[in-house]
Amino acid sequence: MNEYELKNINHSFDLLNGKIGCTIRKGDKWKMVNPGDILHLWNCPQAHNGSCKKANLNCEYCGTGLVLGYWYGPIRELPESLLKIEHNFTAQNLPILIEMFKTAYGEINDDDMYLSLIYMRLSGNEGIKEEIEFDKDVLAKLGELSLITGKNVEDIVTQILIKNIEKLENE
Ligand SMILES: [Zn+2]
Repeated sequence: MNEYELKNINHSFDLLNGKIGCTIRKGDKWKMVNPGDILHLWNCPQAHNGSCKKANLNCEYCGTGLVLGYWYGPIRELPESLLKIEHNFTAQNLPILIEMFKTAYGEINDDDMYLSLIYMRLSGNEGIKEEIEFDKDVLAKLGELSLITGKNVEDIVTQILIKNIEKLENE
């Protein structure tokens, strides 16, 4: 299991703890992740590259996420089911998402490849107890995700999920 920093630049992490969402990023940087990896979520005005601390900017640690898998392809083929779970709720609308890409990446082309990194929020946005009541919904979502990603993530992730829910309950 590896741990990574997932950085949003002035872009909120809206998922509640226990909910599944995704972030959609240009390029294949996040192809190295595996189900079960942990994400440390940072919302930082400067990509959390070190300069934020020096400049004393408002940089916020937003808790953790559990990697479930990813989808990779051109944006025109992005499954609607992934757009609907974009972790920044404002970006669950394709024209808005594309405007955000232009701000982040400059000019974009139709053939550019994107990766949707799918994860479950483990901490950083309260409501843990309520959300855990809905773990059947979470498991149903995992079934959908295994179809989207073409991987048999369900068995692997269900195990990881149960382990993490137990960990949260014992905290
Ligand atoms: Zn920072």
